[in-house]
This record gives sequence, structure tokens and C-alpha cells, in this order.
Amino acid sequence: MDKVKVLEKYLPADAAPLIGRWIDYFKCEFKISRNRNSKFGDYRPPHLEKGHRISVNFDLNPYAFLVTTVHEFAHLHTWNQHKHKAKPHGTEWKDNFKKMMQPFFEKDIFPMDVKRAIVSYLNNPAASSCSDLDLYRALRKYDAPKESVHTVEKLPPKALFKLKDGRVFRKDEKLRKRYKCIEVSSKRVYLFSPVAEVEHLEEKN
Ligand SMILES: [Zn+2]
Repeated sequence: MDKVKVLEKYLPADAAPLIGRWIDYFKCEFKISRNRNSKFGDYRPPHLEKGHRISVNFDLNPYAFLVTTVHEFAHLHTWNQHKHKAKPHGTEWKDNFKKMMQPFFEKDIFPMDVKRAIVSYLNNPAASSCSDLDLYRALRKYDAPKESVHTVEKLPPKALFKLKDGRVFRKDEKLRKRYKCIEVSSKRVYLFSPVAEVEHLEEKN
């Protein structure tokens, strides 16, 4: 199937042709990954007989997929320019990310709130991939709603929740950036990111 047609299933349709051209221009092996990674995407520089490789998770919403794709292409471009001399999310990468985001801003692809979050992310010198919570939250709003899956910060106080591995916790107070949660079986304290995805367990009284 035509590359752009495939990309249109994952990206905002207006963004697909340019990403298709980047794949050709940069001679990049672009993979839509079905692995459930904690990372949204991945870039690997040329190694032995392999060229540039980018993979992006299939289950991202179209805006998150596009931001991740541009993020990874900015790594590729930075690699071409500087090889090992540039830090992964240093100023060189950041400048490229900004530049490579421009055509999508010009096409008005993003909803206002996402655009605002990307712009403030681009202007924050400390920001790196997924560690920017505001950008992550703005992008997450466009995910299809998943039943009973919530982020820790959205749970009511003292809520019970379950992780994918089956362990059950109770939400407790917020400590600076993270939530203290108590594992029910062991009574041990764990710290959770506010955006950790968990299954909310409703308690019947
Ligand atoms: Zn990165």
C-alpha cells in the first residue's frame, strides 16, 4: 500500500504527505511499532549495514503520533549534522525540533490547546521527550476514552486502583510532584507519577 495512505491511518491526514517525504528524503526505515513500550517512539542511528531507523507506537492518537514522529526525525537530523557530538535532547536537537514542527503549525494541524502546549514545550530549555507533563496532558485529551483507565492524578482521594500486573494500591497524599500510594497487600509506600495509567477499582459500600 502507498506509504502516505498507511500514514494517514495514524497521523492527521494533512501531515501524512510531508512525513512520507521525510521518510524518503532521510532514507529512514520507519516502523509503526505494535509493541507496548513505555516510550512513545524511538530513533536509532545508522549502525553496521542498517540505516536510520525510527519507530513510533501504533496506539498514539494522531496528534501524539505526529509530535512523536517529528521528535524522532529531529533526532535523525541532529545525528546527520553532529553525530555523537550533540546531546540527545540538547540545543541542537531542540532547534531542529522547532524547525521541523513549523510546517505543521503553518498547516494548522493542531487544536489550539495542543499547539499552545507544544510551543511552551519548545520554549522550555529543560524539556525533553515525555517528561513534559503539560504537553503529555494536552495530547492525552485526544485519546479515545478507555474504560476505567485513569491517571493517578484524576482518581478521587483514597481511591483504590490496580496496575496491569494485578497489584492493588490506595492513593494517598501528593508529595511535591508525585503521589504517595500504599500497596494494599504489603502496606508498603510507593510513589506514582501523576500521569501513571491505572485501573480504578470502584468500592461498593
Ligand atoms: Zn528523544
